[in-house]
Amino acid sequence: MTYVFPPHPQPALPVVGSAALFPVRRIFCVGRNYAEHAREMGATAQATGLEPPFFFMKPGDALVGGDGEIAVKYPPLTKNLHHEIEMVVALGAGGQNVTVNAANGLIFGYAVGLDLTRRDLQAHAKEKGHPWDMGKGFDQSAICSAIHPASLVGHPATGPIWLKVNGQTRQQGDLADMGWKVADIIANLSMQVRLEAGDLIYTGTPAGVGPIVPGDLLEGAVEGVGELRARIL
Ligand code: MN
Repeated sequence: MTYVFPPHPQPALPVVGSAALFPVRRIFCVGRNYAEHAREMGATAQATGLEPPFFFMKPGDALVGGDGEIAVKYPPLTKNLHHEIEMVVALGAGGQNVTVNAANGLIFGYAVGLDLTRRDLQAHAKEKGHPWDMGKGFDQSAICSAIHPASLVGHPATGPIWLKVNGQTRQQGDLADMGWKVADIIANLSMQVRLEAGDLIYTGTPAGVGPIVPGDLLEGAVEGVGELRARIL
């Protein structure tokens, strides 16, 4: 097989304890999964309750990540780039109509991610009823740490998740406050699309999102999973 131009490189992340890389396929993100963040984004009490989870996506090649300090270019067309620290689930197997009880069986591991958001573009899209893609799925919008295999870290359901910008705490939450738990998210998403090995799922952000500017150092962690360090250029 030949191609009319060389295929793009496979997006991938390092795996803790392994020389082999994790090949990334699609990037799914859950919206408003911590009630306090949903409220700060203006959701009504009703919308923070028992509504089904909703999803948006970033292209696989919006991924930027790995070990050490991750360099991220400040994106164009925004004056309000926001950080959202999130636990990321990395799937090692696929499935459709996966039950909640079987969901953990699809999980290869976990990572710490930042769902970078052009908040001004997202707000404009919401107002117009337009898609969120250009507010959420721009180049280098999906920052992700190395993957920590579930064989090493288990399946964390509680524990602190936090983000500091230039040493100052901006976000501080706990995985226990996720509205939809990881297994519920996988089960629901697998009814909508067939999930595949290599898919990443960003599981939502706690309260405290806010703007970042060139030069900022972002340091975050999901305790018990791992850490993340990124510099905005
Ligand atoms: Mn998010």
